[in-house]
Amino acid sequence: MSIRIGILGYGNLGRGVECAIKQNPDMELAAVFTRRAPESVRIQTQGVPVCRIEDAVQMQDKIDVMILCGGSATDLPVQTPEFVQYFNVIDSFDTHAKIPEHFTAVDEAAKKSGKVGIISCGWDPGMFSLNRLYANAVLPQGKDYTFWGKGVSQGHSDAIRRIEGVADARQYTIPVDEALASVRAGENPELTTRQKHTRECFVVAQEGADKARIEEEIKTMPNYFDEYDTTVHFISEEEMKRDHSGIPHGGFVIRSGKTGWNEEFGNVIEYSLKLDSNPAFTSSILVAFARAAYRLAEEGQSGCRTVFDIAPAYLSAKSGEELRRTML
Ligand code: NDP
Repeated sequence: MSIRIGILGYGNLGRGVECAIKQNPDMELAAVFTRRAPESVRIQTQGVPVCRIEDAVQMQDKIDVMILCGGSATDLPVQTPEFVQYFNVIDSFDTHAKIPEHFTAVDEAAKKSGKVGIISCGWDPGMFSLNRLYANAVLPQGKDYTFWGKGVSQGHSDAIRRIEGVADARQYTIPVDEALASVRAGENPELTTRQKHTRECFVVAQEGADKARIEEEIKTMPNYFDEYDTTVHFISEEEMKRDHSGIPHGGFVIRSGKTGWNEEFGNVIEYSLKLDSNPAFTSSILVAFARAAYRLAEEGQSGCRTVFDIAPAYLSAKSGEELRRTML
């Protein structure tokens, strides 16, 4: 029998989870839940119902794992502890500083209900965190580096849109090639914020807006841009639609460390991602971890977990025996 998945919240991640389920023959989509009017939400999978979020509780016996696809800012802090009362759940909660308190809230509710909740299963946090952990465990003597991009930063794009005279904006975070090269060469450089990333902004200005002022406001914006070398390009609405409608992202997690009695051997561990679509990829991670949640629940486990707590074999559709045969 396949693992029956529910999708709660149908935005970018919700759509991505639907696509990812299609690539995993051991899973099937059971239902999509939304806070909007269900008839206004069109999904791709034939014959699967779109339901009101309030109806989810009545469908507990039809869903093995509920994948929560709401936003991290206000949806997940409420939805994950709430829905783990009824379902095994997965989320991609990415407010780094609040992960410990989110964990506590989900853990308490999950222990009461006897369900499993796996939180913060994306790539950052998520796969990046996991690769940092592996690299640190293997090379205790060393230095960590994380570079993001090239990719769209939603937060920075929103910050530009709030400037007076801006109609639309897209901001790309770009790693600095020289910094990456130095890290990869095992030189263990000390890098300032400015030396690691640049920021490139594409802005559609409103008719008659003062472009020089907009550019100045962007480049000097505290926390967002003032510590970076920032380039600003003014483009038309058509160019924005044509060239910047995707949500690409990616990055590099690198640990450079020494081994040997006198630490004479250099080692560089690198994990890198180059993603055409950030949400589509994040959704694929959520689906793999949904399999793990299902298996943990089948074993009778309960409580909250993060990616650190999940043994790798639980993510794979292959059996332990199959995996051992090839060590794949
Ligand atoms: P979206 O804004 O696309 O969707 C969030 C929610 O908005 C949906 O679940 C949906 O809920 C609601 N919504 C309301 N109106 C609409 C509408 N008209 N169209 C689509 N959705 C609508 O966010 P994303 O899916 O892009 O991202 C969700 C979260 O994932 C982000 O907040 C981010 O924190 C996290 N994330 C984490 C990553 C990681 O690496 N850990 C990477 C990428 C993202 P409903 O159907 O109930 O209305």
